[in-house]
Amino acid sequence: MANLNIDSQKDRTYDAIVIGSGISGGWAAKELCEKGLKTLVLERGRDVKHIKDYPTTNMNPWEFEHRNEMPYAVQQENPIVSKCYAFHEDAAHFFVKDKEHPYVQDKPFDWIRGYQVGGKSLLWARQTQRWSDFDFDGPARDGFAVDWPIRYADLKPWYDYVERFAGIAGDKDGLPELPDGEFLPGYPLNMVEKYFKQTLASKYPERKVISARCAHLSKPNQIHFDQGRVQCQNRTLCQRGCPFGGYFSSNAVTLPWAAKTGKMTLRPSSVVHSILYDEQKGKAVGVRVIDTHTKEEIDFYARVIFVNAAAINTNLVLLNSTSNRFPNGLGNDSGVLGKYVAFHNYSARIYAEYEGLLDYTTEGRNPAGGGYIPRFRNLHKQETDFLRGYAAGFGANRGSDTDRSGAGESLKNNLLNPKLGNWQVGSHMMGETIPKESGQITLDTKKKDDWGVPLLHIAVDYDDNDAKMKKDYLDTMEDMFKTAGFTNIRRDDGSQAPGLDIHEMGGARMGLDPKTSILNKWNQMHAVPNVFVTDGAAMTSTSTQNPSLTYMAFSVRAVDYAIQEMKKGNI
Ligand SMILES: Cc1cc2nc3c(=O)[nH]c(=O)nc-3n(C[C@H](O)[C@H](O)[C@H](O)COP(=O)(O)OP(=O)(O)OC[C@H]3O[C@@H](n4cnc5c(N)ncnc54)[C@H](O)[C@@H]3O)c2cc1C
Ligand code: SF4
Repeated sequence: MANLNIDSQKDRTYDAIVIGSGISGGWAAKELCEKGLKTLVLERGRDVKHIKDYPTTNMNPWEFEHRNEMPYAVQQENPIVSKCYAFHEDAAHFFVKDKEHPYVQDKPFDWIRGYQVGGKSLLWARQTQRWSDFDFDGPARDGFAVDWPIRYADLKPWYDYVERFAGIAGDKDGLPELPDGEFLPGYPLNMVEKYFKQTLASKYPERKVISARCAHLSKPNQIHFDQGRVQCQNRTLCQRGCPFGGYFSSNAVTLPWAAKTGKMTLRPSSVVHSILYDEQKGKAVGVRVIDTHTKEEIDFYARVIFVNAAAINTNLVLLNSTSNRFPNGLGNDSGVLGKYVAFHNYSARIYAEYEGLLDYTTEGRNPAGGGYIPRFRNLHKQETDFLRGYAAGFGANRGSDTDRSGAGESLKNNLLNPKLGNWQVGSHMMGETIPKESGQITLDTKKKDDWGVPLLHIAVDYDDNDAKMKKDYLDTMEDMFKTAGFTNIRRDDGSQAPGLDIHEMGGARMGLDPKTSILNKWNQMHAVPNVFVTDGAAMTSTSTQNPSLTYMAFSVRAVDYAIQEMKKGNI
């Protein structure tokens, strides 16, 4: 029974509620507040204030008790999150520990989460590519998922809008498969990255190496100074939280901006249990929250609700929002809620050495991470025996190669005079996976978590298409590495479970037909028009590009539409 004694219902009524304060929720909050709506942002985790709550941001390597390694006991207790490349002493406090928030893996799935104000926006690697018409047309062309209800042109102005505000560094590359944006200057490639780019340009003109596009202030504009941010200092310690606001996070950018309007109420430690549906009114009227400190159940009310809990948790909240009208989850007339969940396939890597260009080395650190190879497979025609394609990262660096041989004086001299070794080059695949009905999230019928919310089951896996795509990536990259004269090539077809790519999508997909989708072209529920879902749960297919920039664009576009509909009295 909801506790109605805490305060009056009126005090718990807002114009809008946003569930989740991460990348997409931060944008929804900013837009709703700027447009004058009294907005409640509900966040299950603790508060994290920009700068003040970044405890490790200025620590030196020797100041970490375990030199930034995670102690063995912690790894044993948290086998899933320990697999994430960024789970180290400097940022561990921003990751969810497996032990504290269990879920059921019906099939192996490494679910990486950040439960705090800012969500995973504190931890992300900040790679930001637009999706293109090749992605939004894809399902209609290849028949692998339902048709997207939008095309690139629908999203383009909103990409422009979020890029200008967030600050995205990149070059104008003129590629239809990776549309250019409103960029700050891109980060330069180093000599070997450029060499590989030139090699590909001469041998495989359709394959490009470009500077990776990233959410860093390479050269801030006035709007970024207005946000209290300054130029990125290239420290590449970003996952600790950046005191310069050098990279985009909800904590540094959208949430403070929303707060400045005086319209935002941020309520951390509030686990959203479900969305409340009123059958008489035929709409959602609010949300039920469990306070993590008191375990009290509290209901909050609003005219419009944005669900931004990150794809899998958004599915959980919707599936748990049952009523007579929606016994199988809110808006789930089609029965597809929780289904067609997909992700990216980052499971293959390839490494090599280059013995050329030894007169050069790298200078400073590149927060963009180096080069990006946009998708070139199956673009203009189907040319392989698998559907869709992959993009790839490509980077080169040159470390010192210290000779540790000898003894006494000779050993000392060797240690004091490290020499630069060969260039080390590496690439990882970023494959598109195909949403399948069997890729499903469900709720446990008996087991609940500490807040009385049913435990989640995940049954999402790779298939033959992924295996074929992975082989093609490794063969193709090996071939290109050989062409470039790289030596000591090592293939790693990683046996990792899905999930570690941290790009889960789908479950409440958009679509033209309410019989096969949950959301319309405005991220609005077909069946419950005052509920919008603008995180990864809304994705119809997955593209090869990183997804978060697209969640941002969807969020601002949906708020704009919701406001218009409210003005017309339709919501
Ligand atoms: C190490 C790492 C590297 C990454 N690199 C990239 C990259 O380079 N490019 C890219 O595009 N993406 C990257 N990502 C993924 C990116 O972080 C996510 O796509 C993005 O954060 C998703 O935004 P979101 O708003 O959906 O979710 P989040 O940012 O995770 O925010 C969701 C919020 O909702 C809260 N929440 C969940 N359930 C509830 C509930 N029931 N009640 C209340 N609150 C709730 C959570 O606590 C969280 O704060 C990376 C992620 C990680 C961890
Ligand atoms: S690289 Fe830039 S964004 Fe990252 S910590 Fe350094 S200054 Fe901050």
